[in-house]
Amino acid sequence: MKILRLNKAGLPVCWVTQEEAATLCVKQQIIWSLGDTPIILHGGYNKRGCRSTLSIPSIIACDGDTARHSLTPALSNRTLFRRDDHFCLFCGKQFTDKLLTRDHVVPVSQGGKNHWHNVVAACQRCNNFKGGKTPEQAGMELLAVPFTPNIYEFMYLSNRQIVGDQMEYLRARFRSASRYWQAA
Ligand SMILES: [Zn+2]
Repeated sequence: MKILRLNKAGLPVCWVTQEEAATLCVKQQIIWSLGDTPIILHGGYNKRGCRSTLSIPSIIACDGDTARHSLTPALSNRTLFRRDDHFCLFCGKQFTDKLLTRDHVVPVSQGGKNHWHNVVAACQRCNNFKGGKTPEQAGMELLAVPFTPNIYEFMYLSNRQIVGDQMEYLRARFRSASRYWQAA
């Protein structure tokens, strides 16, 4: 399980490992924290035979890192397929990562960009059938409108093991545009 690191304004920065969070905790760099399910880390034994423990909250806010948030989240197949919930957005069937491809709605050959707004998950069959055409040209219908995840949605997409209070924090900040995985 990873720890959700926020900046002091409450914007997600990244997921950190428990060890990284422990270091931030020991260095007293955590300004505030959230979450009812702290992780207890066990350290070494002292001379009296007592073992040290460290309680790490599931959401921590640290100073700095405010500049990163103007950036569009990095596009990768893994996060793209999760955004589309592993559905092919043409035939509507669900597939595993291996069987999905990144389809450019407006093909690159027709000036389409490799950007969240222009890419969808598609099965190999639909992608081959569509070829170098737009959905209209190929007579295909897109089942949902592709969108750029906001930082909260991106954090959700980039971690498969999110605990309850982290999920609650992120989900409360999803936009209504992400209708088709609101049930997440
Ligand atoms: Zn398909």
